[in-house]
Amino acid sequence: MFPATEPQSLIQLFSYWASCAPNKAAMIAPARLPLTYKNLLILSQHIREQLNSMGLSSGSRIASILPNSPEAAVAFLAVSSCASFAPLNPNCTDAELERYLSDLKPNALLVLSNSNSAMRIFIAQRFNIPVIELIPELSHGAGSFSLRGDTGLPAINSDFASAADIALLLYTSGSTAKAKLVPILQQAICQTCISVAKFMGLTEQDCCLNALPLFHTHGLVSGVLVPLAAGGSCVSISEFQAETFVAYLQAYDPSWYPASPTVHRMILEQIKKTPGFQTNPSLRFIRSGSAPLAVALINELENILKVPVIEPYGMTEVVHISSNPMPPGIRKQGSVGISYGHCKISVINDMGQNVPSMIEGEVVVQGPTVIRAYSDNDAANRDAFCAQGFRTGDLGYLDEDGYLFITGRIKEIINRGGEKISPYEVDQVLLAHPAVKEAVTFSVPHATLGENVAAAVVLTEKNPVEAEALRHYVRQKLAAFKVPYRIVISDHLPKSPVGKVQRHKMAAYFAEQLCPQDSKSSRQHSTLPPTQVQKQLLAIWQALLNIESVGIDDNFLALGGNSLLAMQFIAQVNTQFQVDFPLQLLFEAATVAELSAHLEALLKQQNRQVSLTIKALPRQH
Ligand code: AMP
Repeated sequence: MFPATEPQSLIQLFSYWASCAPNKAAMIAPARLPLTYKNLLILSQHIREQLNSMGLSSGSRIASILPNSPEAAVAFLAVSSCASFAPLNPNCTDAELERYLSDLKPNALLVLSNSNSAMRIFIAQRFNIPVIELIPELSHGAGSFSLRGDTGLPAINSDFASAADIALLLYTSGSTAKAKLVPILQQAICQTCISVAKFMGLTEQDCCLNALPLFHTHGLVSGVLVPLAAGGSCVSISEFQAETFVAYLQAYDPSWYPASPTVHRMILEQIKKTPGFQTNPSLRFIRSGSAPLAVALINELENILKVPVIEPYGMTEVVHISSNPMPPGIRKQGSVGISYGHCKISVINDMGQNVPSMIEGEVVVQGPTVIRAYSDNDAANRDAFCAQGFRTGDLGYLDEDGYLFITGRIKEIINRGGEKISPYEVDQVLLAHPAVKEAVTFSVPHATLGENVAAAVVLTEKNPVEAEALRHYVRQKLAAFKVPYRIVISDHLPKSPVGKVQRHKMAAYFAEQLCPQDSKSSRQHSTLPPTQVQKQLLAIWQALLNIESVGIDDNFLALGGNSLLAMQFIAQVNTQFQVDFPLQLLFEAATVAELSAHLEALLKQQNRQVSLTIKALPRQH
């Protein structure tokens, strides 16, 4: 791929491909001209000059809060080639943003130049953090933008970041309420994406269709950088919608796409509903990461798409650890494959000793792409490293051929279909409520998400509060995917003989209180016939969740709803009822009964007769 030495920094990577194939498309987006490698390099140079004029350079931390878009993808490429780029979840709450900013202390916050950024700007200013606005340049290549801002710092003249500088700063769910900050060096990110591209046999002809979130390594590295490492192209989509994704799959001739298991399931369901769907002959493979992919889902995807499903294993701290090889290499079902070569995988027992193959233990990794330390977190660093390297917190075993099988987890993270939640963070929010005396957040097995989030609380005697009111309270403080679908109010929490709450036993202990909303047979159905609005909402839910019968009291989150399905649900509600229903409401009023009450009130406010305004839109198949 590279004749002499491999690029050690992002700018070296872009420069290499800009010299080999200047007019080749690096970034592609719907309704936009392609951004060529030559123009990606020019844009990066321009952004460096703009940042320098604001006093920012390779030592600066630039946080961003940008909606998923081609601009967010290119901002990652251009800004992280000049400075340490810290992309934050654009759907985080204002309270979470405050916590991130006070911890990260960035030199500037990058926001999209539009009215939706007003509150984010206000928060940054309260923390004395200068704001830089990203202005999309729609007539230029996909994702092009310029910057506007004044940091108050004197202008400097500084070069691009080099091998030992930090390219990315990412938050990962911690084992305390404090999220851990992961610094990824230029050298490590280049080595990772080049070795993945080589391992997958990618070339300049390959094109990746990427709709993954752009504040996590899966979207940023697998979706954007890996295709560029091979001199190929990346089609960048703003927000994931299963219907448009499947249309792009047919329109853009991608050779591969990455997704999490939840998104793969949504794509599969959409493909099944698409009349005359034919796999594009350009498609070579698909990739799944972030969470375990069920063997049944792999088989279904392979049967329908007629291409191999490749499942890698990685984490923010070591972006890529292992993967099953591409055919004709041997893929083992249930395994996350073999090491990429740059990563040495060991399995250790409780005493920190290596165990032989086929014996389960904690997975530990070592190599140049493993982070050296978390930023500003001595406690986390003490726990994370041992003689054999970085402790992943995952349980697994290696077979005789060196294939890794992940069997469980030591760390107390909840993996909700690929979205990670620290139960400690949710506990802290619940404990801050004046009515809550004790709280424990825990994982509940879920058929399609793998795991769901629930919590149990003990209340103080003086402050009665409803479980739903507590859920709404949590929603004000935390991003939607972290909110427990069910909060059980109990008079005590079961404890170990030494008085410790045993998180892993909670799902079984509270099974009865948690079950009614999860099990189909016992779901409550109102005795009253559903109203016209409720019927419409039920039909949308059933189609999106792919469940035959949904009751008006069923909880969207309990049935497997996630952030992506929520966006699709709200988009359909807004089209069908001609309203502007906020996404936020779905997480506060998560049942059809509650939602219809809000919707009917909204329609009444607008003085509209429901039966006259509902458009008779066909159900999607
Ligand atoms: P994150 O830091 O958000 O990327 O999360 C990393 C964690 O996701 C890992 O430590 C695993 O627990 C889980 N994970 C990632 N990929 C896989 C996979 N292919 N199979 C099982 N778990 C996975």
